[in-house]
Amino acid sequence: MSTQQDWNALSDEEFRRIFRDWVEENCPKELRFMRKQRPLFDEVAVWYHNLARKGWLAPVWPQAYGGMGLNPSKHIIYVEEWARMGCPRIPDHGIGLVGPLLLQYGSEEQKQHFLPRIISGEHVWCQGYSEPNSGSDLASLKTSAVREGDEFVVNGQKIWTTLAHCANWVLLLVRTKRVEGKRQEGISVLLADLRTPGVTIRPIPNLREEADFCEVFFDNVRVPVANLVGEVDKGWTLAKSVLGHERIFLGAPARPEYALTRLEALAEATGAFEDKAFLSRYAKHRLDVYDLGSAFERFAKVLRAGGDLEADVSVLKIFNTELYQRITEEMLEIAGEDARFEDDLDAGEIQVDAMNLFLDSRAPAIFGGSNEIQRNILAKAVLNLPG
Ligand SMILES: Cc1cc2nc3c(=O)[nH]c(=O)nc-3n(C[C@H](O)[C@H](O)[C@H](O)COP(=O)(O)OP(=O)(O)OC[C@H]3O[C@@H](n4cnc5c(N)ncnc54)[C@H](O)[C@@H]3O)c2cc1C
Repeated sequence: MSTQQDWNALSDEEFRRIFRDWVEENCPKELRFMRKQRPLFDEVAVWYHNLARKGWLAPVWPQAYGGMGLNPSKHIIYVEEWARMGCPRIPDHGIGLVGPLLLQYGSEEQKQHFLPRIISGEHVWCQGYSEPNSGSDLASLKTSAVREGDEFVVNGQKIWTTLAHCANWVLLLVRTKRVEGKRQEGISVLLADLRTPGVTIRPIPNLREEADFCEVFFDNVRVPVANLVGEVDKGWTLAKSVLGHERIFLGAPARPEYALTRLEALAEATGAFEDKAFLSRYAKHRLDVYDLGSAFERFAKVLRAGGDLEADVSVLKIFNTELYQRITEEMLEIAGEDARFEDDLDAGEIQVDAMNLFLDSRAPAIFGGSNEIQRNILAKAVLNLPG
């Protein structure tokens, strides 16, 4: 049973200790530091349900809806400890995307119906935004929804839909009106059951030959009008606004930090520390990881003081994802021809999955708004350069 209290009233140290102790006991050891970055629901179901039973699955949802009600400061601790202890990522579109969207814009009926089903794991969600020709330029999306009585009829295709093959619901961005000029108008947000006739899901293998995202086709799929979130044609602002303070986590230092520990183990095992050229590059990576930690802390401080993140938080995502790439490239450099995908490398007491991490480091520079788009944001909103 879940026992909730006002976690925000605890000191940061006390909250960190309570959370860490509980995770130590309740996150199965065999799931820690998983090779797979996006495990399927069934692979991490035990951990998901343990969190749900404790009431700790949805850190920022209000307690009235089954969340912990954490403020940004405590939420950062939750995320830091989760990463530090190597807990696996759960399919989290329901918790991180659909929940906040419904809490802010959903009707009371939608909240009462959908939120408990996310907590119980009955509904597993995915995010249907991107289309074959609409990624960075999302407003050009073409999947259409035409109203017929109490239903919308949806036709079109989504792509790169992470974990659609283990989900049963999708948060869909659709075009409900053709508009000249401002394409952001005429877009709506629908909640669609993936088990409806007319839905086809086709997994796409990623670089690591795992199916972690999919193409999803909609052929005359009927979605009840009751599953429209907010107003028809006005979905753009909703769909873009839900992340709020969580944008900071695109830049959280956990991945580069973890990669640096693996690089160190590998360097010890291969004798690379004897090489002065490597040592100099390693020192730079290490200092960059410290700098990333300081930059993260700077934005975290803004949130702790009750402020809002501005456009400059984009710098954190660029710094983080490119540093992660540099460190994993360094691993391949010192591992040489031993760095094959299938084989982990012996590094003293641990095994290092150098090629796996290198391949994993390619994706974060693309999702969540590609790094080029983040640079555009900085150029326009921070440096006031001409568009
Ligand atoms: C691992 C992974 C998981 C994903 N999961 C999901 C998901 O669950 N749901 C979902 O909806 N989408 C998902 N995506 C899709 C992701 O949001 C898009 O890949 C991303 O928005 C980029 O769009 P695109 O792939 O169409 O590339 P494009 O937008 O076609 O961009 C191609 C290249 O051009 C650059 N570029 C584009 N426009 C500009 C510009 N104006 N200025 C400068 N450079 C530009 C881009 O940076 C990129 O390098 C996922 C992607 C990845 C890699």
